[in-house]
Amino acid sequence: MPEEPCQCPDCQRFYREHDRLIRENPTLRQQQELSWAALQSFRTLAGRVLEELQKTQGDHEAPAAASAAAGASAATEAPDQDSLQQAVSDLENINAHLFSIEALMERIFDVRVPEPVEQKFRELAGELAPDHLNADRLRLNRLLHQTQDLPDR
Ligand SMILES: [Zn+2]
Repeated sequence: MPEEPCQCPDCQRFYREHDRLIRENPTLRQQQELSWAALQSFRTLAGRVLEELQKTQGDHEAPAAASAAAGASAATEAPDQDSLQQAVSDLENINAHLFSIEALMERIFDVRVPEPVEQKFRELAGELAPDHLNADRLRLNRLLHQTQDLPDR
């Protein structure tokens, strides 16, 4: 019996996103750039949040007394010291993993392939993620790109 792919809303959203990323980035070069940008934006954001949390942790001694005085409402706004500590160590782990992934990715991204191979990527991308729904929109986009005042790509 063939395995039916799960059709729950989360999985459907994943399939759509997966196919969109293939459609919009149908070459090796574009997939490399996409993955690199995704990794770097993840590192930038997670690293920055970690810094902020560590800062709050550093000068948390005085505000602790203030939030205790403010009572229950303050407690719901500010996470307690334990869960903050846990989040900091989770984010430290994530950042360490992202750093390792970056080292591995750099090697993948050294690769360049000749144009006929990129053409093969495009061809198979079209088979893997055909855009049934947006054939008309694609046609319109192409028309838009032909007008003089819009830069082509
Ligand atoms: Zn599912």
